[in-house]
Amino acid sequence: MENDIKTMAQGADGENATAEAVSKNFIEQIIEKDLAEGKVKKIVTRFPPEPNGYLHIGHAKSILLNYGLTTKYDGQFNFRFDDTNPGKEDIEFVESIKADVQWLGADYKDHLYFASSYFDKMYECAVGLIKKGKAYVDDLSAEQIREYRGTLTEPGKNSPYRDRTVEENLELFTAMKDGKFEDGSHVLRAKIDMASPNINMRDPIIYRVAHMHHHSAGDKWCIYPMYDFAHPIEDAIEGITHSICTLEFEDHRPLYDWVVIECGFKNAPDECPKQIEFAKLYLTNVVTGKRYIKKLVQEGTVDGWDDPRLVSIAALRRRGFTPESIRMFVDLVGVTKANSSVEYSMLEYCIREDLKMKAHRMMAVLDPIKLIIDNYPEGQVEYLDVPNNQENEALGTRKVPFSRELYIEREDFMEEPPKKYYRLFPGNEVRLMSAYFVKCESFVKDEQGNITEIHCTYDPETKSGSGFTGRKVKGTIHWVDAKNALDVEARLYENLIDEEKGVYNEDGSMNINPNSLTVVEHAYVEPSFADAKAGDKFQFVRNGFFCIDSKDSTPEHLVFNRIVSLKSSFKLPTQA
Ligand code: ATP
Ligand code: MG
Repeated sequence: MENDIKTMAQGADGENATAEAVSKNFIEQIIEKDLAEGKVKKIVTRFPPEPNGYLHIGHAKSILLNYGLTTKYDGQFNFRFDDTNPGKEDIEFVESIKADVQWLGADYKDHLYFASSYFDKMYECAVGLIKKGKAYVDDLSAEQIREYRGTLTEPGKNSPYRDRTVEENLELFTAMKDGKFEDGSHVLRAKIDMASPNINMRDPIIYRVAHMHHHSAGDKWCIYPMYDFAHPIEDAIEGITHSICTLEFEDHRPLYDWVVIECGFKNAPDECPKQIEFAKLYLTNVVTGKRYIKKLVQEGTVDGWDDPRLVSIAALRRRGFTPESIRMFVDLVGVTKANSSVEYSMLEYCIREDLKMKAHRMMAVLDPIKLIIDNYPEGQVEYLDVPNNQENEALGTRKVPFSRELYIEREDFMEEPPKKYYRLFPGNEVRLMSAYFVKCESFVKDEQGNITEIHCTYDPETKSGSGFTGRKVKGTIHWVDAKNALDVEARLYENLIDEEKGVYNEDGSMNINPNSLTVVEHAYVEPSFADAKAGDKFQFVRNGFFCIDSKDSTPEHLVFNRIVSLKSSFKLPTQA
């Protein structure tokens, strides 16, 4: 599938928008028209999650879109739990969803609602439909209802119960509510048109019997409204003007309008609330569906909903993504009517951009090997001034200890270097970042032939910042002082999915990359990390951006998640 960016500048039906409208997406164009024509004075949007799982990056798009429109057009943003299906819902999910929405910065003020608080009104609407002859109780089984529904090419058949009298329907619906029937034995259906070319209009079920405990309504109800009936009523009650949802609901829009009109909330489809559909956000080779994330969690493939390899919002937060980076990502993706999939590297680009100037750049060695400076006085420690971010002076400097024994990255030394290798090798001189030039004099190997120590000499004249110009070296490597370093854990991630095989197999199973997590048990970092707290983010020079894990890190044993490496494969279209 193609990158969404290309379709950013297109209008509602894919035609090229006029130059003037290019910066506005098709939803903004609809809203501006409605405001200009006086159809609405103030827009009201909503984010309506079902509390049956954690939110993911796709939901972030929906949240930021709905919220963003209300800041742009001075409207109101409602946050509503669509908790009408108690079987799958859980209070744990309510709490996590709230935390995610707040973290993203979508300020819903006091506009927090629960669909379950409208159950009385929904019931009243259903009774109203029965009284108008627009709804009936059906005794057919679920399977029979499916058979009677017809197909895309064949019309459906009327249920033998379709012509019940209003009195009979009222009596049966009351009996449904009073718990006289078993689950699945009776349903209330809208009486629309069994021959409609739109299957959603073939007398959809609007209420079902379900003897289930509801997390907030308790045991008051044993009938629950179906989504297609409940959702438009929720929107109408709250005065939602623009009900923005994803494309799969396009064919449900006539039913949405039917419910709002027949229940007396508006007179015509073009009035508000009006449903507007946009394309879901998909990431290539990434599991975004709630159902699939749940599967990975339940099967233990990952360690919970916030495993940093997932793209649930909790996972992205734990990994070290910032709300700013997610906002930038969602803006880059844009809003379109065409389903497409964007690269994960675009999300990585956004977090790099966000942290580049904000994060302190620190020294950390992930694959340590000892470097000994033979001519450096034993027992001496110098505290060198090191800038916190070379590109952002405002972040100041810090003191970093330097002494005779250091750690450097194993890959920064080679016994027999290839051409153009400018790091350490016997006889070569490099700069130790923010410190001195050192020249490799010798190295030590153990019995297995592994290099265990590198011996160097340093030149005191070459101290960073001293203005030394005597000679130049081609390589600069980072280091940490061996005695003062902190021994920490670092977790390095790769895609959870095996990209060669793609995400899903035909049987619904997923292709998991066995190397998605590498744990570095002993990495060495500067002592300046001693006060770092969960969620703090840093650049480890040359190694990437890292975040202190919020679950497993303790002051005694710091755990760092690699958010992203420094190298990028993503280019903005204008740079391509
Ligand atoms: P999933 O498809 O992952 O199971 P869902 O649509 O069932 O998610 P809901 O809680 O019903 O999850 O969704 C809340 C809102 O988020 C809806 O308005 C829905 O359209 C929107 N949404 C869900 N997934 C995406 C996505 N990938 N991109 C954009 N918006 C999404
Ligand atoms: Mg859903």
